[in-house]
Amino acid sequence: MGMHFAPHIPKPESCPALVLNADYRPLSYFPLSLWNWQTALKAVFLDRVAIVSEYDREVHSPTTAIKLPSVIALKKYVRQPRYPAFTRFNLFLRDQFTCQYCGSNEDLTFDHVIPRSQGGRTSWANISTACAPCNLKKGGRTPKESHMQPRRWPYRPTTFELHENGRAFPPNFLHESWRDYLYWDSELERDA
Ligand SMILES: [Zn+2]
Repeated sequence: MGMHFAPHIPKPESCPALVLNADYRPLSYFPLSLWNWQTALKAVFLDRVAIVSEYDREVHSPTTAIKLPSVIALKKYVRQPRYPAFTRFNLFLRDQFTCQYCGSNEDLTFDHVIPRSQGGRTSWANISTACAPCNLKKGGRTPKESHMQPRRWPYRPTTFELHENGRAFPPNFLHESWRDYLYWDSELERDA
């Protein structure tokens, strides 16, 4: 039997749930921690999450109807590591997806600030985000030799710092029930 929905009712697939840690902060800001509706409902039934907010959208089983959760909070706190993993994504996020030499946001790659040929290591403290043209221009030279200084010398960020940077990248889709948990869009209302 086919199911028919009015055109303005969103499909369940377009109703992801924002996942909060037990302290009601998003598990991750960027990429934003989202679960699809099936995963979210499964966690609800397994009693691993509390529903914080719901969509109007319902899904039906033969016996019940349940509103899809729009915000859920883990019941058990997931401890965040103090320092994030050294990954390409996290490195770009540390540098806010910006070439550290010219400020471009396009064609990004990585630069060994001290080149490997001169003993530079592949580590948080020696890798900067660089656009391909800057990377090519700098070549296997040090900042001094190339007269190209990174805007900020590379360093190992904390998980907290990366979260702060991640807040600068709001998702394409932002359900209104998420706003209270994502600071970029929440303004405190003042009394008149
Ligand atoms: Zn550049």
